[in-house]
Amino acid sequence: MTGEKAATVWVPVCCARVMRYNVYGRADGAAFGTLGCRICGRSITLEAESAEKVKEYGERAAVVQVIGSPRPPTEERGKAEGDSGGATNDPTL
Ligand SMILES: [Zn+2]
Repeated sequence: MTGEKAATVWVPVCCARVMRYNVYGRADGAAFGTLGCRICGRSITLEAESAEKVKEYGERAAVVQVIGSPRPPTEERGKAEGDSGGATNDPTL
């Protein structure tokens, strides 16, 4: 790391769109989150875990920084910025 360059973060993507993140509290104080796709409805559950337990996940386990936004950009990923043709219809898969 150079210290000048911004750290890399990972963007959860489904159907070429950034997945929406929501976090929920639970009665026992624990929280969990979901990454959801607005196109196909796929949902991934994220459960909170102590960072001390990372070693229990195997030799190559790593903690990654993932963007979790409740209101991520809705544009399709991978398109050149500034080349937006406005709203597009959802692609047929
Ligand atoms: Zn999807």
